[in-house]
Amino acid sequence: MKAVLVIADGLGGRPTDYDGKTCLEAARAPHLDALAERGINGLLYSIKPGVRPGSDTAHLSIFGYDPEVVYTGRGVFEAVGIGMEVGPGDVCLRTNFATVDDDLVVVDRRAGRISEGQNELERAVHGLKLNAYPDVDIHFKVSTEHRGALVLRGENLSSEISDPDPHKTGVKIHRAMPLVETEAAWQTAEIVNALVVRSYELLADLPFNRERERRGDLPANLLLPRGAAVPPQLTSLQERYGIEGAVIATGALYIGVAKLAGLRSFRAEGATGGLDSKILNKAILAVETLKDLDFVFIHVKGTDAAGHDHDAEAKIAFIERIDEMFAYLLQHLDWDETHLAFTGDHATPILYGDHTAEPVPIVFAGPNVLVDGVNRFNERSTTAGGLGVLHGQVLPVLFSYNDWGEKYGA
Ligand code: ZN
Ligand code: ZN
Repeated sequence: MKAVLVIADGLGGRPTDYDGKTCLEAARAPHLDALAERGINGLLYSIKPGVRPGSDTAHLSIFGYDPEVVYTGRGVFEAVGIGMEVGPGDVCLRTNFATVDDDLVVVDRRAGRISEGQNELERAVHGLKLNAYPDVDIHFKVSTEHRGALVLRGENLSSEISDPDPHKTGVKIHRAMPLVETEAAWQTAEIVNALVVRSYELLADLPFNRERERRGDLPANLLLPRGAAVPPQLTSLQERYGIEGAVIATGALYIGVAKLAGLRSFRAEGATGGLDSKILNKAILAVETLKDLDFVFIHVKGTDAAGHDHDAEAKIAFIERIDEMFAYLLQHLDWDETHLAFTGDHATPILYGDHTAEPVPIVFAGPNVLVDGVNRFNERSTTAGGLGVLHGQVLPVLFSYNDWGEKYGA
């Protein structure tokens, strides 16, 4: 048997989205409706009722992990998602290239949303060694625009430190401080403070930045870290179910969650993570990948991005492109041998423009699924479905249709 999970980020909405309808209701999506018609439908609280999910905690919960137990912070997922090696005891931090003045007062936390030349900056801070801490390995990698991640590796490190990032402009960068009274926390705070200062020394006089200033652009002259975290302890899907799978996504956060759950990461051609992403290629790659692996997780981001932008038309248009993706999946998956789940990780309604706690529609389809009477896929129609309401646990439910997983009890 094979399994496919498709998550459209921020898929859910509210009746205030578009003329009394949610974006899913307003979209023309005949293939999503066909999927609902051949499946069992319901609603999903990705974490639990009343909780506004972050995308990372929502995905952990959808994968069957309890975020209240395992979640250590976003930085680790970002670091793993952009291809950094992370092991037990490492401390990960998210970073921005920022612009500071001579007194280390923050002028712009994102260095004017720097969009090119970041590899040159990466080279300049790569292998950032601190003379006072010769045994600590410091790894840095750029992500997109001003974003990047740091991994600190060595003895006696702790994630219990405050952020150097003041999270606003016009103030001096903060000193990282220990949040607990341990030697490891004190030492890690000192290391982070030293490397922030060192990054300024390495970046401020870089010809690349001088050139930016000549053009009137803000220099990317400081590495500003935040959100220190250690890797979460996740039992991999291989260990839990004995299966091999892959993630097809673009966003580092999702790739990171999936990799830490034991999935390999494949990238579809033309997939950007934006509204213009060639998401049909994800479906094509998924069908190809299932020839060799048991499970594929496809993540698409445009629905969430359009919700954050308060852009109903863009969200509806993206849902219609998801529909094209499902036209391909409906036609090309081996439906005698495959179970598929489709849902969102939370709602991102148009007016609010951020994640909300309402449940999102969900459908499971495949040979062992007891089909209900729902024939449209949206927030309203799926309330009449046979599945009822799920709280996270989408992968365990999906995999149990495939008879994967141990019996609980005798
Ligand atoms: Zn999300
Ligand atoms: Zn979002």
